[in-house]
Amino acid sequence: MERDFIRWLSHRVRSQTSVPVGIGDDAAVLAPSRDGLVVTTDMLMDGVDFDSRKDDARRIGRKSLAVNLSDLAAMAARPEAAVIALALPRSGGRALGEGIYEGLFPLASEFGVTIVGGDTNSWDGPLVISVTALGRVHSRGPLLRSGARPDDEILVTGMLGGSILGRHFDFTPRVREAIWLHERFTLHAGIDISDGLSLDLARLAEASGCGAVVDLAQVPVSPQAHELASLRADGVSALDHALGDGEDFELVLAVPPDEAHKILTSPSLPVPITRIGRFTHESGLWKLLDDGSHEPLTPVGFEHRLA
Ligand SMILES: [Mg+2]
Repeated sequence: MERDFIRWLSHRVRSQTSVPVGIGDDAAVLAPSRDGLVVTTDMLMDGVDFDSRKDDARRIGRKSLAVNLSDLAAMAARPEAAVIALALPRSGGRALGEGIYEGLFPLASEFGVTIVGGDTNSWDGPLVISVTALGRVHSRGPLLRSGARPDDEILVTGMLGGSILGRHFDFTPRVREAIWLHERFTLHAGIDISDGLSLDLARLAEASGCGAVVDLAQVPVSPQAHELASLRADGVSALDHALGDGEDFELVLAVPPDEAHKILTSPSLPVPITRIGRFTHESGLWKLLDDGSHEPLTPVGFEHRLA
């Protein structure tokens, strides 16, 4: 199966190759990068990140690349290439493999990503997809988690929560938005929301050696978060979903106050942006109370468990 599949793939990918040596040799060759190469990898597994019994192979394939592009967006990097490793179940593997690639090709071309190689294996286990994405550091430098300073504003893109209802497959990685903002404004730090707003915000604050106070009333709660809260009726509110659901793939940014003001009053934002709080000297995650004081906010979100 593998030889046939690779032949199909090389044929399918050849038309979009824009790198010195792409798919088909022992390894790929990329042009040197003046400002630095950004590398990120994300592995998706059947039963954790998707359900191959229910979910269309093309949506699974699209997601496997999109989650990696979201990490490049969090660095304000420009995507360039990707390497795809597939562990396909023996039964039905060929059709599944083709479906996965057909799902990720349109996203790759939308974001200027060339598929430069990978590996395709089959086995008796479930579908596993590991994508490694490569991008170029922006000439203004990479956007890191560690640059937030006390008094920076906390800004988020888009609407949060309830992505399990479908957006975790169909989201747009915020690559263009991150670069657009990075080129026009001073951003101190950024992270993408892969595991939940409160958890990822806490990670950014910790990496920056500061804390964060969130004004819960300002958190942009998505219609899907409301829908999920009423569908499940399990006491988890729409706001809880916005704070703790994984896979929003929006951006959290730390921005100095004057720059944040410029962003929030800009007439041409490529995505809605909301101020949800402020970074502080005092470490930890906090929620703002009506009287201006704050109390602890427990970070919740998705974490892989290891025994
Ligand atoms: Mg990330």
